[in-house]
Amino acid sequence: MPIDATAAYDDSNIFARILRGEISAKAVYEDDFALAFHDIAPRAPVHVLVIPKGAYVSWDDFSARAGDAEIAGFIRAIGHVARVHRLVEPGYRLLANIGPDGGQEVPHLHVHLFGGRPLGPMLAE
Ligand code: 5GP
Repeated sequence: MPIDATAAYDDSNIFARILRGEISAKAVYEDDFALAFHDIAPRAPVHVLVIPKGAYVSWDDFSARAGDAEIAGFIRAIGHVARVHRLVEPGYRLLANIGPDGGQEVPHLHVHLFGGRPLGPMLAE
């Protein structure tokens, strides 16, 4: 069920629980600002979720409230994950679902990183 991305942050969401270590995830990268882990239901040979460690619901929330170091750290983490999975040359796709029209289901900002095969059209019809 898509969430309301303007709602207050709910720290019971599944990614908050992963950040607290209450639920396990297959991490591929972690630093002070970001955690990256394999999606539990991968839609491509590489399907990694990258999340900021701070409590942000959406891209709007993050871009408005996060500090410069958090924003830089998050963006750099996404690039790092793409490089270590050797996706730079074949290419890959980043996707952030935001709010109801975006189909966001988990109310903690996350970027999907897809790769490992040609990914087809940008949007499903
Ligand atoms: P959204 O639709 O919010 O952009 O994407 C949420 C993603 O989180 C989905 O691709 C879903 O498979 C993934 N996901 C949901 N629960 C878990 C979980 O417990 N662990 C992991 N690793 N991924 C999850």
